Amino acid sequence: MHASHSLEVYKFGGTSVGSSAAIQKATSIVKATQSRLIVVVSAMGGITDLLLETAKKAATGTDSDIDFAVSEFVRRHREAVENLLADSRRATELRQIIEKSAVEFQSICKSLAVLGEVTPRILDVSVARGERLSAMIFQSFLQEAGVDSMVLDATEILFVEKRFSNLIPNREKCLEAANKRLTPALDAGRVVVVPGFIATGPEGELLTLGRGGSDYSATLLAEAVGATSVTLFKEVDGFLTADPRFVADARVVPELTYREAAELAYYGAKVLHPRTIIPLLANRIPLTIKNSLAPDFPGTKVSDDCHAVDFPVKALTAMVNQSMITVTGNGMLGVPGVASKTFTALANVGISVSVITQASSESSICFVVSSEQAKAAQRCLNEAFAFERSARLIDDVHVEQQIAVLAVVGLGMKGTPGIAARVFSAMSRKKINILAIAQGSSELNISVVLRESDVKSALQELHGEFRLEKLRPLPERVEKHVDLVTLGSGQIGRSFIRQIIGQKHFLAQTLGVSTSCIAISDRSGPVLNM
Ligand code: ASP
Ligand code: MG
Repeated sequence: MHASHSLEVYKFGGTSVGSSAAIQKATSIVKATQSRLIVVVSAMGGITDLLLETAKKAATGTDSDIDFAVSEFVRRHREAVENLLADSRRATELRQIIEKSAVEFQSICKSLAVLGEVTPRILDVSVARGERLSAMIFQSFLQEAGVDSMVLDATEILFVEKRFSNLIPNREKCLEAANKRLTPALDAGRVVVVPGFIATGPEGELLTLGRGGSDYSATLLAEAVGATSVTLFKEVDGFLTADPRFVADARVVPELTYREAAELAYYGAKVLHPRTIIPLLANRIPLTIKNSLAPDFPGTKVSDDCHAVDFPVKALTAMVNQSMITVTGNGMLGVPGVASKTFTALANVGISVSVITQASSESSICFVVSSEQAKAAQRCLNEAFAFERSARLIDDVHVEQQIAVLAVVGLGMKGTPGIAARVFSAMSRKKINILAIAQGSSELNISVVLRESDVKSALQELHGEFRLEKLRPLPERVEKHVDLVTLGSGQIGRSFIRQIIGQKHFLAQTLGVSTSCIAISDRSGPVLNM
């Protein structure tokens, strides 16, 4: 039984449970904790894609090798079992479970091929096996390694409702289930392993939380049990200042506030599922993102307790595959209700909008939606404004494809003048055409709408402009002590000592280093201060 009162949630992503070596590493991380612990796991890396693609291809009749996919699925999981559990009884059981799951998937795919279509529900049921198997394998190895543990299926403890295409957690049900199922096991000192990504929907059906959804599973569980912290173990060292595929000298951002992290996740920083932060807010649960292969690296910490840094902008992110829609017409001038009609029409068909801008001349409103929804948005607006269009008050609704929204994020922008100017001069240096801009009054984010083809150079230029390559990981906050002896106390020696004294506080706060000058020596001899 663990004496500790702290209760943590760890989540291991696909890569962190993607092989037997990774699972061993993850297990040693679990063994090292003193807290009561919930462990959320993703499917082994690549498995979700394999399952999704195979099922989709089977339905569309695209030349798909179902049998090959199934054998790949079996091979990956069996390999982990062989390496981790060898000939134990549990290994035999797991082999049977894997086999059964594979056969079931195979027959799903074969029926899809006959039916020629696939529904979201069938896809959800198809992919869920990835997380479930990975949870079972991981927990079996934990047990083998001497950690008292159990698997609790996510569909028994996470409940969501549906609104349009969005899933909204049913907090009451989650809380009740957590109290009944999770807390007693944790209190008994058991590590509870939960498959991520899946939950139970309003009709009792199995649902998935969207790609990368295990992050969200972890924070939802943390909220339900009142966890003291959440750690997401991923294949990256933390939240990066920009996508490293675009910006070679991207760095790990050591600390973010909840609002910064939410903003970045929303604007397409793939590191986090966009809703991950929400469940943390009520109880201000701190979140850390770490690399499971380098757990000593401090990673990124998301909390309220952010130390002031000299970086007003902390990270950049770009949402690609977007379309910009413009509603224009001279007849809009001074006519109330155009904006409301526009967004109500969109809301009615469940389309969500990101950046919105309207010029004060009121002759156009423009906004951004994902490209998949662009056609539907155009159609519904053309219908909503049928009368205005025939009366020539509004022109046709215009769609521009291959657009991106680049977000410049950092709470330090607030009250720092000139950030927007720097963003725009950086863009003009690169001759990038800005299509629209928006800044919320929170001054946390400047969003720039631009063409997709300009994203790379915009990111590179802005990264340099805000010197983001200079961000450094947070030093471990262990106290280190440095005793200084200066030889010589002329100009240089004296100003050095003055600087050390002046920086004492900074060194202690930021680097965790305390300093004292124990001796100064010059031509007239040493002065000791021991
Ligand atoms: N396995 C799912 C995915 O790849 C969920 C997750 O890993 O968080 O999206
Ligand atoms: Mg994954």
